[in-house]
Amino acid sequence: SKEKLIIIGGVAAGASAAAKARRTNEFIDITIYEKTANVSYANCGLPFYIAGIINNRKNLLLHTPKSLGKRFNLNIFTKHEVIDIDPKSKTVLVKSGDNTFEDKFDKLIIATGAKTVIPKIKGIEQTPFFQMKTVEDVDQIKEFIEKNNPKSAIIIGGGYIGVEIAEALYHSNIKATIIEAQKHILPNYSHEIVLAIEDKMKEVGVNIHTEKFVEEVSYDNKHYKVILNDGTILHSDMLFVATGVAPNIELAKKAGITLGETGAIKTNEYMQTNYDFIYAAGDAVEKFHIVSKQYVFLPLAGPANREGRVAGCNAAGGMLQNPGVLGTSVVGFLDKIVAKTGLSFDEAIAAGFDADFVYTEDPDHAEYYPGYKYIFMKTVFDKRTKKVLGVEASGSYATVRKVDAIASAIYGDLTIYDLENIDFCYAPPFGSARDNINKAGFVAANQDR
Ligand code: FAD
Repeated sequence: SKEKLIIIGGVAAGASAAAKARRTNEFIDITIYEKTANVSYANCGLPFYIAGIINNRKNLLLHTPKSLGKRFNLNIFTKHEVIDIDPKSKTVLVKSGDNTFEDKFDKLIIATGAKTVIPKIKGIEQTPFFQMKTVEDVDQIKEFIEKNNPKSAIIIGGGYIGVEIAEALYHSNIKATIIEAQKHILPNYSHEIVLAIEDKMKEVGVNIHTEKFVEEVSYDNKHYKVILNDGTILHSDMLFVATGVAPNIELAKKAGITLGETGAIKTNEYMQTNYDFIYAAGDAVEKFHIVSKQYVFLPLAGPANREGRVAGCNAAGGMLQNPGVLGTSVVGFLDKIVAKTGLSFDEAIAAGFDADFVYTEDPDHAEYYPGYKYIFMKTVFDKRTKKVLGVEASGSYATVRKVDAIASAIYGDLTIYDLENIDFCYAPPFGSARDNINKAGFVAANQDR
């Protein structure tokens, strides 16, 4: 009989795995079990759907279960949750409604993603709140906004999801207040990089409370009351929780699959777990950081897609390797963008590098051409090897281009001297004859002499 591949989870990593498995092997039988009603949807697009920037819900659903199944010849079962994996008999136990049944596999891919972490706050269990994780979540948010016309919202958590929610609410004319326990919002970035976004938020009326914890929440069916640890009492019409995510590993753990130090599933570079016929990919899996050589939990869609492809290929009989991540990421608030790749200065020091950094701030295109904006960069390098270790940057949309180019430089093991010399695009509307990255390399090389 045909070899059978089962994939648990049908979104970023799961759907990529299925597509790549099919491209690798046209003969195997591929089944996806997904516990929600949707597969292959764009969770990264959810905030922009609330904002009304993506205004057709259909555009979030990259595929229906039917279209995905047809395109890649897959058996897709939505509203089917895998509740047990038995590696010995190579079976999974699947639950659908009141029904449970067993299914046998030769190869298994775990792509169960991550779940929102709900902080332990007094009253939170009795208080209905919103989160933004699935299409169903945004349906609820949209419906609430349309029905109740809320004017204000409190967002617990100032990570990138919290910032994206704040932007979506801004576009919906809802005044947002962010509460963040750390010193500043987007705590994965250095504060000086994030100031651009904090300033923009203040300018448009988003309130930010940093270094504050939420102690208690309650809801009287109309208004939320939120009490902070310093006694501040806030009221709002909506409440969001965006305090981060944790890997969905319960199923794997129960099956005896090894977890790494980060608490996420451990795999090798072929995306195999401790059982060589069970693969894992996406947010449920910890990642090897190419620069720090340490394992990290990094729930992002780019790595999830790439890992899914590697797992899918290998599970179907091919051979691909996953080199790991650079931690490249970006988030915007209106016209202010922050992005990073590699290690920040603090992360480089923590990873044991003899690191240094330079600040540069230059226009994103020729100054004599109208409309330029600044890009502020903090470029980190190794004092001994001169290798580029990372960059954090903020500014206009062009910030993304700079950080992406430096990601390539780090991936290619380049030095600050290379940054000085790389030949980038230039014409006045698009760039500068001395590109921002050339300048960073030049300043770093001079500082180092
Ligand atoms: P998921 O996409 O979470 O998919 C896992 C699936 O597995 C889920 O559908 C779940 O229902 C299913 N599942 C879990 N357990 C079971 C089970 N036992 N049985 C059956 N099915 C199961 N990343 C970026 O890089 N850039 C962004 O701009 C960005 N924006 C985001 C915005 C939002 C609002 C959110 C929520 C996430 C965003 N992300 C972004 C993160 C990105 O979406 C994730 O990293 C990515 O989706 C991870 O893919 P995954 O397949 O591992 O997990």
